[in-house]
Amino acid sequence: MNKVFKVVKNFFEDFILDFKNKLFSSKYVLKGKCKKCGACCRNILFSTQAGYVKSIDVFNEMRKKHRYYRNFRVSGVVSEKQDFQNGALTFECKFISKNNKCLIYPFRPLFCRDYPSVRQDLIYNGVTMLDNCGFYFDVDKKFSEYLN
Ligand code: SF4
Ligand code: SF4
Repeated sequence: MNKVFKVVKNFFEDFILDFKNKLFSSKYVLKGKCKKCGACCRNILFSTQAGYVKSIDVFNEMRKKHRYYRNFRVSGVVSEKQDFQNGALTFECKFISKNNKCLIYPFRPLFCRDYPSVRQDLIYNGVTMLDNCGFYFDVDKKFSEYLN
């Protein structure tokens, strides 16, 4: 019963997310499609009010406060990216399988179901898709609008 409830709840949440993305879409649109490489589940950045998490001690404190963070382990460090991300720890979700399948797909968190969402503020701040991701952001403008 609990599982059925979650599937129905997720269905309506997905519907609302889709609606929200269409209603508040910026001048950018998402194009392309997922290659199912799993990179986005292995290169997650977390941030606090102080910025991106760059220290394991900070992350351990986060894990103590919120159980949710126990689902992640450190997978690497960002380097040679945008300055504001340099040194940030990357995290891997424990639910990604070796063959890049989400082991809790029907119950994955809202954030995962909304990924990748078009966030104009983040795009302006230089945030891009991961290297080799099948998605990319494009400007939602017709050729005739450029001519005008
Ligand atoms: S990184 Fe992009 S292509 Fe790879 S699984 Fe994530 S969304 Fe799909
Ligand atoms: S819950 Fe699933 S989709 Fe979300 S990060 Fe983990 S493996 Fe990826």
